[in-house]
Amino acid sequence: MADYILSIDQGTTSTRALLFDRSGSPMRVRQKELRQIFPKDGWVEHDAEEIWAATLEVCRGVLTAGTTAQNIAAIGITNQRETTVLWDRATGKPVHNAIVWQDRRTAAFCAKLKEEGKEATFQTKTGLLLDPYFSGTKLRWLLDNVEGARAKAEKGELCFGTIDSWLIYNLTGGKRHVTDATNASRTLLFNIETNEWDDELLKLLDVPRAILPEVLDCCADFGTAERDLLGAAIPVAGVAGDQQAATVGQACFEPGLMKSTYGTGCFAVVNTGKQRVESRNRLLGTIAYRIGGETTYALEGSIFMAGAIVQWLRDEMKLIDSSEESEAMARDANPHSHAVLVPAFTGLGAPYWEPDARAALFGMTRDTGAKEVVRAALESVSYQTRDLMDAMGADMKAAGLVSPQALRVDGGMVANNWFAQNLADILARPVERPEITETTALGAAYLAGMHVGFYGDMNDVASHWRCERAFEPEMAETERAERYARWQGYVKRVIG
Ligand code: ADP
Repeated sequence: MADYILSIDQGTTSTRALLFDRSGSPMRVRQKELRQIFPKDGWVEHDAEEIWAATLEVCRGVLTAGTTAQNIAAIGITNQRETTVLWDRATGKPVHNAIVWQDRRTAAFCAKLKEEGKEATFQTKTGLLLDPYFSGTKLRWLLDNVEGARAKAEKGELCFGTIDSWLIYNLTGGKRHVTDATNASRTLLFNIETNEWDDELLKLLDVPRAILPEVLDCCADFGTAERDLLGAAIPVAGVAGDQQAATVGQACFEPGLMKSTYGTGCFAVVNTGKQRVESRNRLLGTIAYRIGGETTYALEGSIFMAGAIVQWLRDEMKLIDSSEESEAMARDANPHSHAVLVPAFTGLGAPYWEPDARAALFGMTRDTGAKEVVRAALESVSYQTRDLMDAMGADMKAAGLVSPQALRVDGGMVANNWFAQNLADILARPVERPEITETTALGAAYLAGMHVGFYGDMNDVASHWRCERAFEPEMAETERAERYARWQGYVKRVIG
């Protein structure tokens, strides 16, 4: 009798394996850090073989102390999105390091495509913008810069994949070259309307069709992990990119349900239902999940620095000794302080997309101290979330949908109660923190578990979602409006 789903969470800085039981509780975790490779300024790579070895190690690591592979009903996979691997179909060897989503090496090529007026085509078909972030231009770079790659690719001798594909290929002993619709939707090559690889886009990015994986639903038969790897043959039955998996883990299954993950950066996703909403506010349109052949869409916006601002307070400014300390500092700050931090340390993400903007601290007076700066830092994450929520609301309204009425949160930073309350105050919406905050790994487990009958349907999964604490807006409307207007004014100064 199977007791668990094994969830693989292959992230940017670490690879984790978790066991989830029937109630959706994480029972065991193993984690391994991942080496970051920076060959040049703006370039970020991972060793794909190291990722596979770490995956195997952490999976074996959770199968101990009486729990064996026989206790596992299925494997779910969630992964850092967009990171691009190209490997030899016959030998299974990568032809180059994986190019990580953060890597900017294709910026000039993206700019050229934009100048040629191609962005509208990509946006209409994929929901994405022309940015080095996505897989397509990274793949083209590999084909153009790895010796012999293009010729082999034309003959179908290479395989392209995001990390999910790479792991499945290895788990199945090279038998399956597949991906899921959410990961495909981040490549710039996949038409999210027709749910197919798009010939026009393939041509624009000069990518031969022969190297592409087959695209499956998020709940599907992705193949079987070989018996000799983990001690039993286990079906791989659920796959989604990390933010989409977190959306599932937060049970955002209805249009207007929104989640935001506050880790190093922040990723907000709102379900737009069966309707694809084209953003007029420079948000990304994407596939939230595809189940039973039916696509559910989402709008997504990201903030480059969220928890990373707290790290900056600690490591660079030395205003706090630990992240946790930021909570008490903000609570003790002068509530009338008008200090505002615009944290454009690495530019501003959605909805501004201003890569060259830089951070600034405004509105200081003679009595502004460390506490007020810490408070301003935490507030800046709330303001940026409000920017995203307003942009999402506007796009949804234009499409005849109801805008988000609450926000489900997760990630390391939401342990901070002051921040969660401030977020509710600035959004003028309830902020809901779930009992289980391992939402990314949980989402992958749900997808796999739904496919093999370990969990029931989406209603059943939604009924597992439990709010640990809801933060209700308490700030007076006039104060909220004043504060948010001040923020907007300072953002203009930073952009201008
Ligand atoms: P990631 O998955 O991106 O590594 P996590 O979800 O583990 O991130 O969150 C870690 C981030 O959360 C760090 O940037 C840290 O500074 C921040 N963080 C952790 N605890 C707190 C806290 N109590 N208050 C504010 N920020 C916090």
